[in-house]
Amino acid sequence: MSQPQGDTAGTAADVLEDLRGHLPEECLITDPTRLAAYDCDGLAAYRVQPALVVLTDTPEYVRRAVQACAAHRVPFVARGSGTGLSGGALPHADGVLLVTSRLRTLHEISAADQRAVVDPGVINLQVSKAANPEGYYFAPDPSSQQICSIGGNVAENSGGAHCLKYGFTANHVLALDVVTPEGEEVTLGTRAPDAPGYDLVGAFVGSEGTLGVATGVTVRLVRLPQEVRTILAGFEDTDQAGAATSAIIASGIVPAAIEIMDALAIEAAEAAVSCGYPEGAGAVLVVELDGPAQEVAHEFDAVEQICHTEGCFELRVATDAADRAAIWKGRKSAFAAVGRISPDYIVQDGVVPRTALPQVLRRMTEISAEKGVRVANVFHAGDGNLHPLVLFDGSVEGETERAEEVSGAILDLCLEHGGSITGEHGVGADKAKHMPKMFTADDLDTQQMVRCAFDPDGIANPGKVYPTPRLCGERPGRHTGPHPLQAQGLAEIF
Ligand SMILES: Cc1cc2nc3c(=O)[nH]c(=O)nc-3n(C[C@H](O)[C@H](O)[C@H](O)COP(=O)(O)OP(=O)(O)OC[C@H]3O[C@@H](n4cnc5c(N)ncnc54)[C@H](O)[C@@H]3O)c2cc1C
Repeated sequence: MSQPQGDTAGTAADVLEDLRGHLPEECLITDPTRLAAYDCDGLAAYRVQPALVVLTDTPEYVRRAVQACAAHRVPFVARGSGTGLSGGALPHADGVLLVTSRLRTLHEISAADQRAVVDPGVINLQVSKAANPEGYYFAPDPSSQQICSIGGNVAENSGGAHCLKYGFTANHVLALDVVTPEGEEVTLGTRAPDAPGYDLVGAFVGSEGTLGVATGVTVRLVRLPQEVRTILAGFEDTDQAGAATSAIIASGIVPAAIEIMDALAIEAAEAAVSCGYPEGAGAVLVVELDGPAQEVAHEFDAVEQICHTEGCFELRVATDAADRAAIWKGRKSAFAAVGRISPDYIVQDGVVPRTALPQVLRRMTEISAEKGVRVANVFHAGDGNLHPLVLFDGSVEGETERAEEVSGAILDLCLEHGGSITGEHGVGADKAKHMPKMFTADDLDTQQMVRCAFDPDGIANPGKVYPTPRLCGERPGRHTGPHPLQAQGLAEIF
């Protein structure tokens, strides 16, 4: 390794030179054609080609790569499967992209302990597949679970349809092996619950790659339920479906999932996968109940009655696994399906208190009509997590801008109702500009002090999450003179 370069930041070429001889050549990508494959994540509206891609096949490669970046103060961005929807894994033009997707070993599935220990590049669904024969599964189930990585789930604190009952990723991560931005290998948390001291696992989960790179993840496994019952209910409109959701929760039942799709989302799903949802429905509710058979039977009777009371005109129950998969197919294909009814769309992600859903949905319909921009709605109704799909045609002048305006207005609406600018997709590059709407300058400074504690040089995923980077007041003594970002007026020491 080269020695640190004082205050002068080095370049990705310096990092490359350090890594040559330590990592196989095939793990170091500099060819512009190959680099182009990594220029965006799932939010393809933003594209930046990295200076260097490092394929990290082992935790040792991650450590070496981060240490080289730290030595030269070169920014790095971790990337799992690249399915993120907020530009979190968007590369830095002068930086290094550390790809963890080849770290794919499932080290341990322990039924007795209800734990799994996996590499960060392991695909979410693989954990459940490995645990199923033992009678267990990994509960957080993003719709992207066939392709997204556990490392990405940890960094985004990802959710999914079944997180209403079982909690988000944060509720299932017990310990993390991490390479800190200074290149140190540390273990946060323990396999056993309730480690004393600060909850550093809690700080790391959801930190969007800004506190280091996870190289090992210990997660909780959940027992497979004895019975699962999936209900599809057709309503005239989202008001009725929303009222049914509130009534179900108010009755004391916590279903595994409650999802709502509105008429436009149903139209798109029908066009894409012919899911056969109730004809003429202005909204459908998918309710899944799971648990001991007797409990599910009892809850089912109550849900059926509530749905009918709130105006449901058709209610179906999946009779077997294939039927259940068919009901979920429409819901899970909804994002991609809108491509059938619109050339372009923005997937928005906001959250409101569940009780505010009717007002928010009504106002969203008004905004959509005022601006002449169609909005399809698919959402995790149980926890008020909205995923409005704002439809537009980028080839028509002005439509992109109008769609962005509507998309921003929807976030403002979420905040007005006591919600948040993101429910599960993260802030990333896309929503950093909205953070000051939700937090005061003092709040943002305080949050960034946590970042500085992990990353005094600000090299881990810079430019993400916070609108204005702040630098740490206390920096190691090797630095002299102003930080380059400070000198350029882009950041301030505090
Ligand atoms: C069709 C579709 C459906 C989706 N549905 C859902 C959904 O239901 N719920 C949901 O929450 N999300 C959903 N997403 C978003 C996305 O799949 C999740 O955010 C997922 O967790 C990202 O995982 P990834 O491996 O692709 O991460 P990436 O996109 O590669 O990275 C995401 C973030 O994690 C960081 N990161 C990645 N690996 C590491 C690591 N090892 N250590 C530290 N930081 C790391 C990156 O720097 C970046 O900030 C969906 C995406 C798509 C395309």
